[in-house]
Amino acid sequence: MHAQVLTAPHSPLARRELPMPRPIDGQVLLRVQACAVCRTDLHIVDGELTQPKLPLVPGHEIVGTVVGIGAGVDRFTIGQRVGVPWLGWTCGSCDYCRAGHENLCDRARFTGYQIDGGYAEFTVADQRYCFALPDQYDDVAAAPLLCAGLIGYRSLRLAGDEARRIGIYGFGAAAHIIAQVARYQGREVFAFSKPGDSAAQDFARGLGAVWAGGSDETPPEPLDAALIFAPVGALVPAALAATRKGATVVCGGIHMSDIPAFPYALLWEERVIRSVANLTRHDAEEFLALAPKAGVTTTTRRYDLAQAELALADLREGRLEGAAVLVP
Ligand SMILES: [Zn+2]
Ligand SMILES: [Zn+2]
Repeated sequence: MHAQVLTAPHSPLARRELPMPRPIDGQVLLRVQACAVCRTDLHIVDGELTQPKLPLVPGHEIVGTVVGIGAGVDRFTIGQRVGVPWLGWTCGSCDYCRAGHENLCDRARFTGYQIDGGYAEFTVADQRYCFALPDQYDDVAAAPLLCAGLIGYRSLRLAGDEARRIGIYGFGAAAHIIAQVARYQGREVFAFSKPGDSAAQDFARGLGAVWAGGSDETPPEPLDAALIFAPVGALVPAALAATRKGATVVCGGIHMSDIPAFPYALLWEERVIRSVANLTRHDAEEFLALAPKAGVTTTTRRYDLAQAELALADLREGRLEGAAVLVP
């Protein structure tokens, strides 16, 4: 089967013919219908995340059709459509797993990082970490829900239910989905793009943002919470400065440049900075039920699987509106 393979960080993906994967006990074999490209894939390719298996098939926003099952598979049957997210396996026995925080599992393994992912024609996945997908979305439209949507949703949830005015820094794949959820929940979205990126600001307004501006601008009202999806540490003090007392600033990415020193006064008055790591299966079930109810639509640009490098480059250079999706 054709796959796009990372053989070493800082090198381009290579087209390889790999043997067909075989599902072991508890795994489903999937024909990949679509796989969205996440910023985390860039961090892996660019060597900012340092523990990938190598060689690696990246990709952790997989929409696939079940074409084979291993022994003991009981959640899915042949022909069913499933989604595969970043969280690929957890131990179930560490303190975090036992406390319901499987996203922090000490031995967790991640799709497209320690487990081969969806930049391929076929893949295998542990059935316990696969999800049925809402019918309203075709394969390409559904793919970005599986990380941009899920991580975005967890970030929004951790901002707190009472936060009404939500700032979103970095208006890419996660932001474009979660802005719609926030609006459905009756919140106001304030979108921050790179200074001068009027296309991103128009995109945000089109998705219901009440205000859109550059990350160097001050919103018209102080924010109750801010979500940072851009991997830029300098946005942390900028976001703190835009928030009211008691606000939470949530860093939604897996990697960020260093956060510069800032005056304690920005954090004072019970402001909170926190990160979001991974997802739980509960997040996935909750979000995949909510997205169609909230009328979430995804904006995508479709690429052939063979164009994976181009999709990564477009994401790196900020040339995308919404999410890139690879189609084998
Ligand atoms: Zn665990
Ligand atoms: Zn991701």
